[in-house]
Amino acid sequence: MDVTPSSGSEPQPSGLRAEVEDPPRGEHLNVELLDRAAELARGYLAGLRERSVGVPIAPDALRAVLGGPLPERPDDPKRMLERLATAVEPGLVATAGPRYFGFVMGGSLPVAVATSWLAAAWDQNAGNYVSSPAMSVVEEVAGTWLKDVLRLPADASFGFVTGGTMANFVGLAAARHAVLRDAGWDVEAKGLNGAPPITVLAGEEAHVTIYVALRLLGLGVERVVRVAADEQGRMCADELERELRAVRGPTIVCAQAGNVNSGAFDPLRPIGEAAAKAGAWLHVDGAFGLWAAASDELRHQLDGVELARSWATDAHKWLNVPYDCGIALTADPVAHRAAMNVTAAYLVRGNDDAYNAYDWVPESSRAARGLGVYAALRTLGRSGVRELVDRCCALARRMARRLSEARGVTILNDVVLDQVLVRFAAPGDDAVAADQRTRAVATKVQQDGTCWLGTTTWRGRVALRISVTNWSTTEADIDRTAEAILRCATEV
Ligand SMILES: *Cc1c(COP(=O)(O)O)cnc(C)c1O
Repeated sequence: MDVTPSSGSEPQPSGLRAEVEDPPRGEHLNVELLDRAAELARGYLAGLRERSVGVPIAPDALRAVLGGPLPERPDDPKRMLERLATAVEPGLVATAGPRYFGFVMGGSLPVAVATSWLAAAWDQNAGNYVSSPAMSVVEEVAGTWLKDVLRLPADASFGFVTGGTMANFVGLAAARHAVLRDAGWDVEAKGLNGAPPITVLAGEEAHVTIYVALRLLGLGVERVVRVAADEQGRMCADELERELRAVRGPTIVCAQAGNVNSGAFDPLRPIGEAAAKAGAWLHVDGAFGLWAAASDELRHQLDGVELARSWATDAHKWLNVPYDCGIALTADPVAHRAAMNVTAAYLVRGNDDAYNAYDWVPESSRAARGLGVYAALRTLGRSGVRELVDRCCALARRMARRLSEARGVTILNDVVLDQVLVRFAAPGDDAVAADQRTRAVATKVQQDGTCWLGTTTWRGRVALRISVTNWSTTEADIDRTAEAILRCATEV
């Protein structure tokens, strides 16, 4: 490498370079910019309760204001911020607000939003201890509290990931490692080529993301043995037992706590006992259902959950922390770590006794995803989580009651958690007409903007799907929503 200055270059007057290149003092502290961002955020949150919840908009309308060629030259950051806030406005969905009942969303507790602002300023890489001792310990504490509130074994290993999908992935990666290890095969070293075949069994109502995880792990989708479910979507434990009798070799069972449509729980105790008897690894997808553990009234539905070897859940749903936050937990830290850990000469850990997140998740560089959990659990406490879960379920029951008072409305599920399935039929409607009517009601409701909810197919029939998981939803919101839905139903 040639490090001598080229012969023609002028000598630099001493001090000039420093004057030009040193950032002005306090450059990080662009007060005007940060204050403006806070102001814009405050404005959005102030209008959240009353804004139209999720009115349809075409992508081209947003491309017109957000797109265009890559700018050649820098723009003023404050002006960009203001333009951005204006441009995205019609395309923002009030998922954080009190009358969004689509999918299973949850919002963001104010304290979790505020904490995430701080986190952005701190800009920590929480991959390992040495890059952020503070965030490492925050996540360690958050994981410990989480096991406590969810009543999972205190010695379970955990990692904070992007969501339920990746939590399923991590849990099943640990499962894959363990069942093959027990068969004398190191899957991390040798991969799946030539490995003893793994049999995966899942309830026929398993969440789609279980299949995403299985695909990523090379376990395939079509090879999964699908175990029959009952009319609420619960895996039939005796069917599982029967299927397991025919299976030999490495086996993984995927059960579910909280069906994404009905909210129903697989019977975890008989499933866990059957899995143990067969020497199978039991994974439980409890993206939102695991939170029932916080409630004295709901907890019985999780009976036997401790028999599982891994659990997946979300904090960005029912705990109401910002995206992205899911948690994978396992009863086999050795398998969990073997499936996830990273090692390289330069990856200095800093402290052997510390929690190094990258040993427990697929990512290396990462945000401290557990920070929102820390903030939420620290401020809510055990009783606050219990109250949040109980309140949402009471509101779901209220919604079911309100809607079912009207003629032609059927609630399709037992409302055992936060989920309600609603179907509309007028006198003389056959099944197809009722399907069409129910879909038309959903479209009308979405355009109306009082609330947002989607549709699903439940046991071959179209239904409106309502999920009550937002911390800010009140009884008045439920009544107002029920009225809007019933009004839309009379208009179709
Ligand atoms: C939402 C959900 C998932 C996926 O979680 P993401 O956070 O969306 O990745 C998995 N399983 C169930 C039961 C869910 O409700």
